[in-house]
Amino acid sequence: MRSRPPPPHERELHIVLAGVANGDKKWLQRVAGRSKSVHSWVAPKSASVGDEVVIYVVGGHGLFATARIKSRPKPRTDWENRHGADLESVRLIEPPISLAALRRRVPDLKWANYPRSITTPSHKIVEQIRALIGKRRETGIPDIEDEDIPSANIDELWTLALLRATSSATKKERVRVYRVASTAIRNYVLHRAKGHCEACEAAAPFRTPDGEPFLETHHTTRLADDGPDHPAKVIGLCPNCHRRAHLSKDAKSFNASLIRKLPRLVLAAKNTD
Ligand SMILES: [Zn+2]
Repeated sequence: MRSRPPPPHERELHIVLAGVANGDKKWLQRVAGRSKSVHSWVAPKSASVGDEVVIYVVGGHGLFATARIKSRPKPRTDWENRHGADLESVRLIEPPISLAALRRRVPDLKWANYPRSITTPSHKIVEQIRALIGKRRETGIPDIEDEDIPSANIDELWTLALLRATSSATKKERVRVYRVASTAIRNYVLHRAKGHCEACEAAAPFRTPDGEPFLETHHTTRLADDGPDHPAKVIGLCPNCHRRAHLSKDAKSFNASLIRKLPRLVLAAKNTD
C-alpha cells in the first residue's frame, strides 16, 4: 500500500549538480514550465517520490532550477555508483542564484564552499534555501551586498546593472543603488568579455593585482542624465581600442561598429555556457 506523501514543508530537499557541456542546462531551459518530465536525472539513492530537487549548474551559473522527484531512484546504467530519478515540474530560478548569494544567505550550508554532486541539507537549512529561492522568484532581484558583486553570476549582474532608485528613495538609498548598478555594469561587461577585447578580440594586455585580465569599459553612447548606463551599451575594450574609440581619425565609425556589434555580444553571454 502506498503511504501518503508528507506535506510540502516536511519533504526532503536535495541539491544536485548539472553540467553545461553535456547539455543539462539547455535541457532544463527547454522543459521548464512545461508538463514534461526529465528522464533519469542524477539523484540520491535515498530520495523519495515528491521530494524537491534544486539543480545547481556548474561554471558559475548557480542554483538554476527546481523540480520534483517523479520516480524512485534506480542505478544508472551509464554512470557507476550513481542513481537516477525522473524529474517533473521543472521551474527555472531567474536570475539563477550564485554561490556568493547562497553563502551570504545560507551561511550554514557547507556544500556552498565546495559544491559536489549531491547534498541533502538538514531541515533548518532547507527552510533558508526555500526562503532564498522564494524571494528571488518574487522580486527577481539578487539580494547581494557590494562586496559580493564580483562573485555574482552574469544574469545577476545584468539584473543589478538595471537597478534604479525609486522616485521616493532617500538620497542615501539613491547613492547606494547607483553604486551597485555601476559596479554591476563593470563586472557584467568584464564577465562577458572573458579576458578578451570585445572589439579586436586580443587577450587583455596584462593582469591586475587581483589576477583579473585588464580591460577598460567603454560607454558607446553619451549619458543623457549622468545616471548609470545600460549594460547593453557598454563594451569591454583593450587600451588601444579604447583610445581608438575616442581619439582616432575613424573614432566615429569605429564606435558605430561597436554599437552594431553589442547586441550579438549580449545575446551570446545570455545563451552560451
Ligand atoms: Zn582591442
